Amino acid sequence: MALFVQKFGGTSVGSPERIRHVAKRVARFVAQGHKVVVVVSAMSGETNRLISLAKEVSPNPDPRELDVMVSTGEQVSIALVTMALMQLGLKARSYTGAQVRITTDSAFTRARILDIDQTNLRSDLDSGYVVVVAGFQGVDEHGNITTLGRGGSDTTGVAIAAALSADECQIYTDVDGVYTTDPRIVPEARRLSTITFEEMLELASLGSKVLQIRSVEFAGKYRVRLRVLSSFEEVGEGTLITFEEDANMEKAIISGIAFNRDEAKITLLGVPDRPGIAYQILGPIGDANIDVDMIVQNVSHDGLTDFSFTVHRNDFRKAMEILKGVDAHIKSRGVIGDDKIAKVSVVGVGMRSHAGIASTAFRTLAEEGINIQMISTSEIKISIVIDEKYTELAVRVLHKSFELEQPV
Ligand code: ASP
Ligand code: MG
Repeated sequence: MALFVQKFGGTSVGSPERIRHVAKRVARFVAQGHKVVVVVSAMSGETNRLISLAKEVSPNPDPRELDVMVSTGEQVSIALVTMALMQLGLKARSYTGAQVRITTDSAFTRARILDIDQTNLRSDLDSGYVVVVAGFQGVDEHGNITTLGRGGSDTTGVAIAAALSADECQIYTDVDGVYTTDPRIVPEARRLSTITFEEMLELASLGSKVLQIRSVEFAGKYRVRLRVLSSFEEVGEGTLITFEEDANMEKAIISGIAFNRDEAKITLLGVPDRPGIAYQILGPIGDANIDVDMIVQNVSHDGLTDFSFTVHRNDFRKAMEILKGVDAHIKSRGVIGDDKIAKVSVVGVGMRSHAGIASTAFRTLAEEGINIQMISTSEIKISIVIDEKYTELAVRVLHKSFELEQPV
């Protein structure tokens, strides 16, 4: 007998029929003698609907009120799922985040979980109930409703699994696992039966939307056994997120190719090469709450150098404005920007022990005549910025050249 936390996303609870399907799946686990905590998202499209509704009334809704509003999406789902479970003759009970007492900080719309009170959940589980918890929400120390940021139900699932020391946290979604890349771009992309936690973290931060990045961080920190599965298919093991030391199986050197088109590039030309310059450039950007991703500064030979970095596309205009001010102030030779770029990344823990991965990636792009604009690397990742219009081509050729379509 095991304790499972099963999280179902928006499409998995998108209609009464889908909800009945979820209830049946949960019932099968219960029939096998397992204890189950169900965590659900709002029905698909509901969170977006609520946000647009709020914006019709106020273009810039107050964050506290927005959380009061968007948290209702999940509240509807928990009640419906619980009713469906009862309809099958199971004992079930729903809880909002506040009812569980999922305590968060007070950062409305992007709160962090601080503590989960296990009392109610434990006693219900011990008395044979399926507990159904609203994802994405909590309550701060003053009793205000908070939400955890888009995609936050994944984090609720993992956090509850950590708090209850569950045997496994299963994330049921509309794909049947984590793929070597987006199958819509590369039809030969393969589902990975396992991926290491670190690789998953990279993929999540690089734009793979399968799991909210914070949920992966949480799983890593508390060593939660985490699995991604399809809620549409009855069979299948999905993808298990493993910790490197217990991944004793033969592993590919590269696990996947990620890409995103969410960034923009800014270059400050002819920057004087002296101490404090990077701070003078990026300080104001940080002060404006703009996150910087890649940063490249070259060595200078005549006292001047170019300084480039990337930001989210939504912040591009604002960052350009700020940089024009910086340019005037530090007397560099102008600012140029480009928001038609893509970042393509090759990810794999095998890079640590294998040389030549970067050169293979560069050769592959060169053979297609794709120009590389920026490069950044970590121990297990190479990210390359290219012209946006070559994104799909780059992903396809890299996938092929690392033979990711071949089973390991
Ligand atoms: N309903 C929320 C969202 O759409 C949370 C979630 O689905 O994980 O972002
Ligand atoms: Mg999601």
